[in-house]
This record gives sequence, structure tokens and C-alpha cells, in this order.
Amino acid sequence: MANIIQDLVPVGAKNRPGNALTPKFITVHNTGNSTKGANAAGHAAFIKSPGAGSTSWHFTVDDLQIIQHIPTNENAWHAGDGLNGPGNRTSIGVEICENSDGNLAQAETNAIDLIIDLMKEHAIPLSNVVPHKHWTGKLCPHLILPRWDAFIASIAKRQQERIQAEKLAVVPDWARESVKKLMDKDVLTEPAGDATFYRLVVILDRLKLIAS
Ligand SMILES: [Zn+2]
Repeated sequence: MANIIQDLVPVGAKNRPGNALTPKFITVHNTGNSTKGANAAGHAAFIKSPGAGSTSWHFTVDDLQIIQHIPTNENAWHAGDGLNGPGNRTSIGVEICENSDGNLAQAETNAIDLIIDLMKEHAIPLSNVVPHKHWTGKLCPHLILPRWDAFIASIAKRQQERIQAEKLAVVPDWARESVKKLMDKDVLTEPAGDATFYRLVVILDRLKLIAS
């Protein structure tokens, strides 16, 4: 997945409240800014400027990079539900860029990988990945809301792909494609085995006995 660059809002800034956060939710936003150059770097500059006021969030994701602005053990003010609202005090805020000179699909893919990493790190269930709308009714993330269920489904699918890829890492290169076919067909869930097993799987595959 894309590297995370830390470019934190300075301690003491108006939009770095510093309350302790134990993340229970992940809140997904769109930036609402389709201007060229309104990418992660642009938002990293904005969030450190006076123009940001008291607004903040944890991560901005574009098609090329992920920038972190606030540590995940501190709250940010992104959910619009008040200083002590559950959105602001229990969730990590992820902004997905929509700059017209970027690739929106790739930005969403990068965000999905980040969300999966955050879910794993903080033991957050997929049911607690929510749109900004969940907290206040605001139409955000406006580009994703019309297909929110599909977005959640693609997180679940990507999660399975990553689990499968981790398991397949133990399989020798020469057998991996054949073993993957068995896993894709749910014939095999644990691919660990010895050389004889892998040879047999490859032979079955070469005999076209494993449908792809
Ligand atoms: Zn939002």
C-alpha cells in the first residue's frame, strides 16, 4: 500500500485539540474540493494554515500518497457533531481527495488499504466504518454515498485478497498460480504444504483438472 507520510499539525494549534482518542470508528469523507492541485499535499498545507480554523482530520488520501495530520491517539474535529460528539471523540477521520487532476478510483483504492490497516491496528469492525453522514446527516462523502454499500463490499473483498496474498507468500513461486486457483475455488484455505503437495497441485493444473 501507499506509504504514510507524517506531516503533523503542530501541538498547540487551534485544530489540534489533543484529547485522548481510543478509535472505535473510522469516518470517511470526501474533501468536496475538485480544484486542480487540491490533493493530499494541498490539504496538508491547508490544515496547517489559519484558514483551517478549528477543523482537522487524521489522514488525507489521494491517488499518489497518504498524509497523516493528527496522531490516531488524539481526536480531530471532522465529524461536525460538536466538541464532545461521538464522531469527533471516537473516530479517525479519513479525507479522500477529488481533485480533478487526480485519479479518483486510485485515491479510493489507497483509502481502502489505509482503512484496512487502521481496522487491524485498532480492532475496528467493518460495521464501524461509517460515512460522515452517519454522525450529522451531512451529504459526505458525496461521491461515495450513492454507492456506499458497494464501497464497504470492496473493503471486505480487498481484505480477503490481502489475507489470501499473505497466505500464498509461503508457496514457492512455481506453484503459486496453481495453488491460488484452488483457494479461489474454496477447495483449499490453508496453502502451506510440502514440495510433493505443490508438485501434485501443479500437475493437476497442467492436466487442466483445475478450472480457472
Ligand atoms: Zn465530511
